[in-house]
Amino acid sequence: MKLLCTDLDRTLLPNGDESESPAARPVLWHLLQSHAVALAYVSGRDLARILKSVQQYELQKPDVIVADVGTSVYVRDGEGWLLQEAWQLQIADDWNGLDSEDMRELLASFNELEDQEADRQTRFKRSYYLPRELDTENLKLRLEELLAGQGIKASLVFSDDPQKNVQLLDVLPLHATKVDAIRHVQKLLEVDNEQTLFSGDSGNDVTALASEIPSVTVRNADLPTREAVRRLAALNATEASSYQAEGALSLAGGRALNGNYAAGIVEGLVHFNSAWSELLDSEAWVAKALELYALQGEAGSLQA
Ligand SMILES: [Mg+2]
Repeated sequence: MKLLCTDLDRTLLPNGDESESPAARPVLWHLLQSHAVALAYVSGRDLARILKSVQQYELQKPDVIVADVGTSVYVRDGEGWLLQEAWQLQIADDWNGLDSEDMRELLASFNELEDQEADRQTRFKRSYYLPRELDTENLKLRLEELLAGQGIKASLVFSDDPQKNVQLLDVLPLHATKVDAIRHVQKLLEVDNEQTLFSGDSGNDVTALASEIPSVTVRNADLPTREAVRRLAALNATEASSYQAEGALSLAGGRALNGNYAAGIVEGLVHFNSAWSELLDSEAWVAKALELYALQGEAGSLQA
């Protein structure tokens, strides 16, 4: 494996209700370092919020950042980040020359759509809040009809924000979802599917989790998400590349990895690279991981 692409909130970041195994992140970082695996963060957050979480949770600096649910790709350039203009040009076609401000006007008659804050809107991402109980199937059909009538190819990505108790809707160019952006990153880094792992936990991760790219759904993902991934993987005949963490791993010295967050990512890495489990069985290797990557402050383990 040469590339780990991972979602952040409630996948790598332990900011859900479940607990994180204390050794999980140190073991993950040491596994990546031991095998020279490139790292990409793939998030609905924008670049600034991603960098903030890197600092807050003492995450390793990634090589690539996919922000705004796949609509922006940045490559590390020294201390800075270089926006991949080619990616933006490629996805712009789907919206027929429109940007997210035009999209706002076009969808203004949908009263159930509440605009997210201005700083959550980007050039090719229009984001809304929806009531938690809203029937999204019906809304989706009506949106699709209107957009198709305008010659716009869009992806409608629904997800949940349990902390705010709302549903989220991102309207994106059709080919600008997380899985499309991951394929773009694979091309940039010249790695194939067998060399890639994606990890995720919720709505906007589902298409990637059920794709031909090897993936792990972390154990703390909610039941509807796990079922949606299973159904879609069956439909795509990609069950072999779509793994769901169970919390089945343990480390030398008897420490358990519970399958949540980073522990789920480690489980996925070992599932697709069975030889790597030898390292987890080595007392010396695990001790080194804890020594090298022990969290420096309280902030690393704080709930967001
Ligand atoms: Mg997430």
